[in-house]
Amino acid sequence: MFKGINAIEFTKRFKSDADCFEYLLQLKWPAGFSCSRCGCTKAIKGRTWHHKRCGECRYDENVLANTVFHGVKMPLLKAFHMMFRLTAKKKGMSTVELGHEVGVQQKTAWLFKRKVQQMMKEDDDDEIGGNADVDEFLLGGYSEGKRGRSLEDKQAVLIVAEQLEDGRTGKIGLKHIENFEADTLGCAIEQITNPQAHLRADSYSSYKCLQQTMNLEIVKSEKGSALAQLHKQIMLFKNWLRGIHHKCSKEHLHAYLKEYVFRFNRRNKRKYLFHEMMHRMMNSFPHPYKYLINKCGCYA
Ligand SMILES: [Zn+2]
Repeated sequence: MFKGINAIEFTKRFKSDADCFEYLLQLKWPAGFSCSRCGCTKAIKGRTWHHKRCGECRYDENVLANTVFHGVKMPLLKAFHMMFRLTAKKKGMSTVELGHEVGVQQKTAWLFKRKVQQMMKEDDDDEIGGNADVDEFLLGGYSEGKRGRSLEDKQAVLIVAEQLEDGRTGKIGLKHIENFEADTLGCAIEQITNPQAHLRADSYSSYKCLQQTMNLEIVKSEKGSALAQLHKQIMLFKNWLRGIHHKCSKEHLHAYLKEYVFRFNRRNKRKYLFHEMMHRMMNSFPHPYKYLINKCGCYA
């Protein structure tokens, strides 16, 4: 019953907080209400619109409790509109834009978006197994470039991009790395790929080292043309980061890489993401402000 959803279907289906509530009820209790205290399946009206009261033991159950929606202060309909925009748009949205479109303060939009971002995590489907190219790149201010001697204020990222037979890019993977040593690169590659992957990289010494333990082929860089598709993906990622997030601190980078990979690898299933994300929100623990601040540092 939960299919992909486009903008027209979304506005038809979710007109009020009550519509949103009904939807979340079905996510929480797909087989119908069942009291978590006594197992009774009969429910009556609860204390508030987001409570269900057990018809037997009278336990008042908050539908939003123990989910990421716990503590969301704005009307549910606004949260749904934000989620729809964050999932339906190819690149996502900045919190300024989001707040403006939905009619909430930027801070409120920021907090909600951070919660959504935490749910944009890779799963087993993101693992790369076929032919894939590997490289790394630097982020940070005007000093972007290739492997410097020291990273200083720059951040290094490893990228793996699956190369399909028709020349297009399949899935990608991104990992923040501390340095360019073979062990570091190898460890990051192992997290993104499975052992069946056939990898290609340029002739950098660390990759040559990894040849002993990995299914890795060294290709001559020829001014980047050998790994042209991969370099295009690096450029697309950098453009996205600049366009949506403007600037990015070290603390945030991890979350942004995950968000980008999540979006990119699901680019052909975008209309299903709304439900997928709602499902994740209802099946994860609450992410209060303090938790997010500790995790992410500051506002962006
Ligand atoms: Zn009960």
